[in-house]
Amino acid sequence: MFRLFSYYLNFWFLCVALFLWRPCFPARIIPESVTVITTTEKHNATWHDFSKFLHAERGSHVSGMAELKKFFNRFGYLSAPETTPNFTDNFDSNFESAVLLYQKQLGLPITGKLDSDTISTIVSPRCGVSDSTTKRIHVTRHFAYFNGKPRWLRGSPMTLTYGFSPYNMIDTISLTEIRTVFERSFTRWASVIPVSFRETERYESADIKIGFYIGDHGDGEPFDGVLGVLAHAFSPQNGRFHLDAAENWAVDFDHDDSRVAIDLESVATHEIGHVLGLGHSSVKEAVMYPNLSPRRKKVDLKIDDVEGVQSLYGSNPNFTFSSLLQSEDASNVALGFQTGFSKWTFSLPLVLLILFFGS
Ligand SMILES: [Zn+2]
Ligand SMILES: [Zn+2]
Repeated sequence: MFRLFSYYLNFWFLCVALFLWRPCFPARIIPESVTVITTTEKHNATWHDFSKFLHAERGSHVSGMAELKKFFNRFGYLSAPETTPNFTDNFDSNFESAVLLYQKQLGLPITGKLDSDTISTIVSPRCGVSDSTTKRIHVTRHFAYFNGKPRWLRGSPMTLTYGFSPYNMIDTISLTEIRTVFERSFTRWASVIPVSFRETERYESADIKIGFYIGDHGDGEPFDGVLGVLAHAFSPQNGRFHLDAAENWAVDFDHDDSRVAIDLESVATHEIGHVLGLGHSSVKEAVMYPNLSPRRKKVDLKIDDVEGVQSLYGSNPNFTFSSLLQSEDASNVALGFQTGFSKWTFSLPLVLLILFFGS
């Protein structure tokens, strides 16, 4: 009898352990409809109009879908039409393949349809670097490089200098604050690879040239106003690092209540990854994921980011993965509590225990 009781006890404790052990990913929100953040400020980014294509699938014909196809073409998912001068408004098999590829790259459910997850991601702000310039080399890894795997080639120890364009800055954030933000962002990458970064006042000779630009600024990648594309940077050893001056850049959300505020530090950290040679990752939590929502801060390098950059430059001798794992665990737990996941996860085992001991 006692043996039977202990089997039951073990079984229930196993159930409880499984619930408690479940990774603390943020609760998955399946929106009823697509939330689109728009702004009354003048801008050319019309991605929010793409929300009208919600639920479109192969065989659909929706007026204006050619514009959405241009988006897929721009970010490397759909090649230009061969037989006609322009894209059509038909959801054909070519476009379905592009949607499938996009969903895979962005870590979305792979349905081939313009479901709410996919449309929400399409309309959210992102980095201007194309996803097609990157190439994955390993199926179990999610980070990527630029084609040809370029990296900075300097003597060891490697020091790269960075400078701010004296002519292309913003006046909504002080230069002192901008410098502090970038110093922190560079330090994050420097802590995991044997590369250090030093600010220089000699902008013209800096390895990494940082500036804020409006619209067409001469490199063939015009910015589009508030939201849409936030920034872009070039692969090694180019060093150009451009931010869209039209964004509502923020360094502290407590002092900026704009719905379209974009965290400068998160974007700076992401673009430094490109400057070093990383492409976009399909891991949503990674700094190198291409999208960043307004009022979201994402500055801590994740394992995927670290593995990617270390495969280019090697490891900083002072870096250990265990410290990174500890900080990820801590942030995951914090995230779990924030998203309300804890209530269900902790209360269910409690109910089971009460039922068991009460019977
Ligand atoms: Zn990017
Ligand atoms: Zn540019």
